[in-house]
Amino acid sequence: MKSFDAHAQSQRAVALRQARAQLKKDIKSGKRHPMDVFDQGVERENQVVKGLRVDWFLRSLPGWGDTKAHRFLTELGISPRHTLGGLRVRQQVLFRRKLAGVLGTGSGRRAAGTIVVIAGPTAVGKGTINRVIVEQHDDIEMSVSATTRPPRQGEIDGVDYHFVDDERFDQMVELGQLLEWATVHGQHRYGTPQAGVEAQRNAGKTVILEIDVQGARQIRSRLPDALFIFIAPPNFDELANRLTSRDTETREEQSRRLATAVQEMAAKDEFDAVVVNDVVEKAAQKVVDLIVGHRKKLRE
Ligand code: 5GP
Repeated sequence: MKSFDAHAQSQRAVALRQARAQLKKDIKSGKRHPMDVFDQGVERENQVVKGLRVDWFLRSLPGWGDTKAHRFLTELGISPRHTLGGLRVRQQVLFRRKLAGVLGTGSGRRAAGTIVVIAGPTAVGKGTINRVIVEQHDDIEMSVSATTRPPRQGEIDGVDYHFVDDERFDQMVELGQLLEWATVHGQHRYGTPQAGVEAQRNAGKTVILEIDVQGARQIRSRLPDALFIFIAPPNFDELANRLTSRDTETREEQSRRLATAVQEMAAKDEFDAVVVNDVVEKAAQKVVDLIVGHRKKLRE
């Protein structure tokens, strides 16, 4: 038993080391913005980031080496052995201010793309609306969720979802790699991989998260600046018809999904806006108008 534990522990340590090496590469290549990584590290939620040593973090900045990192830390009186998650509040403030100066942008944060959460009951047509939007707008992209649900016919791994097994999903949760996650329809787990969303945002894209109400609530508490849109059916009978006319689910699955739909409808007032999907193109345009309005508000 003991040796099994030790084995699991060493495997975890290897996974953490690999994730940190990848994180450093992502900072160096510009895929992850240093200020986002710093903020995530000091929040201590993500095990990979909070355990990153400050000197390694600084050496990952493009064009930075030992000398620059050493000078930065000496001037602040911070030991290179500190981890991001180990910085005290005063040190965090000084570090952040100096990093912002080094990165050369007022707050240190590049204009990142907006996050738009789109929720609504199953079969309401969220997917169709989002496809129309993404096809017509190069600056809007969908986040690709991870799920433990098996692929349906025609679904492509990495495009429709990242299809993963329970073990991999557990690992993503444990390593803090998901921005939010939930068990949907009481059955399979679904989650939003943080790295993918951050890469899209850093490229200035508006990112749509098509997720359930439980996930939307988590995003609301983590990213209050996001825009929250609820897609509603013209009426509930119409929704039941749409659901039962799809032959992608079994009867049992359909009734489970309908039960979730009732719960989801009850949450619609928690959203910034409700868009009724009567005609897809019109609903898509309303969503785009809301996104444009929201971006404007964020700039003011
Ligand atoms: P489906 O199995 O039909 O592809 O998706 C079922 C539901 O899972 C969707 O209606 C959507 O609300 C939810 N979902 C998909 N991806 C995510 C995710 O990343 N996080 C959460 N919380 N829900 C998701």
